[in-house]
Amino acid sequence: MGYLSVAEAQACILEYVRPVGRERVPLHESLGRVLAEDVISNRNHPPFDVSAMDGYAVRHDDLRDGPCELDVVDDIRAGHMPRAKVLPGKAARIMTGAPVPAGADTVVRVEDTEEPAEHRVRILKAPKPGANIRPQGENLMRGSAAVQVGATITPGVLALLAMVKCREATVFGRPEVAILATGDELEALDEPLDETKVPDANSHALYAQCKALGIEARLLGIARDNPIELKAKLAEGLNSDVLLASGGVSVGHHDFVRPVLESLGITMHFWRVAMRPGHPLAFGTGQERQCVFGLPGNPVSSMVCFEQFVAPALRRMMGHRRLFRQTVEARLAHPLRDRAGRMHFVRARIHRNASGGFVAESTGAQGSGVLRSMAEADGFIVVPEEVEALPEGATVTVQLLDEMAWAKEAGI
Ligand code: AMP
Ligand code: MG
Repeated sequence: MGYLSVAEAQACILEYVRPVGRERVPLHESLGRVLAEDVISNRNHPPFDVSAMDGYAVRHDDLRDGPCELDVVDDIRAGHMPRAKVLPGKAARIMTGAPVPAGADTVVRVEDTEEPAEHRVRILKAPKPGANIRPQGENLMRGSAAVQVGATITPGVLALLAMVKCREATVFGRPEVAILATGDELEALDEPLDETKVPDANSHALYAQCKALGIEARLLGIARDNPIELKAKLAEGLNSDVLLASGGVSVGHHDFVRPVLESLGITMHFWRVAMRPGHPLAFGTGQERQCVFGLPGNPVSSMVCFEQFVAPALRRMMGHRRLFRQTVEARLAHPLRDRAGRMHFVRARIHRNASGGFVAESTGAQGSGVLRSMAEADGFIVVPEEVEALPEGATVTVQLLDEMAWAKEAGI
């Protein structure tokens, strides 16, 4: 089996991935989830034409000849109905959100008026006909969709759902995800520090990456590099919808993850992707639609592979329409050299220059074990496969690792 390009590998994965079902959750718990059905509005909002300003409801015909004085026949507050019709030469004082009375077609804001006497108003400045009126149903129209299936429930969407009395929302489910680290050299977080060991970073990076998507993953701990222990732990992980195993997917003598997964009935679809960092990356599926990702052991590679392959799959399982991170065009702050033949994800800091454009600058050493340069990154400069060198100032595409976007997805 040869190397797949990043796009080919993504397409292959997404072909096997479907939303994992739906559930009803209380409105406040739906934040960050994805709506699984159209929600039809059961009301008009506003319920009738209402004033957008504190002012006077008038007949625009009365204002045509310049400043004029009118009799004030009513005082309409929000939550109260008008008591009088506005006839020629008349006006009604009106508050924001109050219903526009019959006869009136325009609201003059209070700042453009004077009160020369009780129950009299002088219009100093005429607005356009129809001004300052919010039409009935401007926000929500009874019988039409208030929010459509596939919408991520943001605070604004949640408020719309509340307006149409959705005390519970039907949302797409979230996949169960299990995480397994592999390697004889690994030291668990709760073990005492031993300088000769490698601290397990991947379990925690992957846990956090899942959490940022709104998924509480299950940590299976560390499996040592022997087929028997691996088989037991991987089998346990296959009870979840998604199993993320890091390390042991290469071609070394002690890399047993792929053969053991196959012995557990998993069909491996590919295990090599032309990217840096990242390779090797294995993807397989099981009889019960389980997905297994064999991620590289190097912490940065594991995180980059999660971003490029696992996160889009998890987003699709959760019903998201947007599967990939936002990208921006930026100028390179320095030249970049790279071997051609692999797509390169360069950890970078992003800032704006004086003219408002984005500038991308490498966060330093790009070795796949250098987690520090990952921790400091705002995003990845995506260097296409065929590119070997880019000069300073070249326009590049940057994939944004937007912390706020994470928080939004996670509903935090
Ligand atoms: P492997 O893919 O198993 O050959 O591992 C590649 C490199 O990643 C080795 O240097 C491992 O020590 C390191 N590594 C593997 N798993 C982890 C992990 N969970 N946390 C940190 N480093 C790891
Ligand atoms: Mg290993």
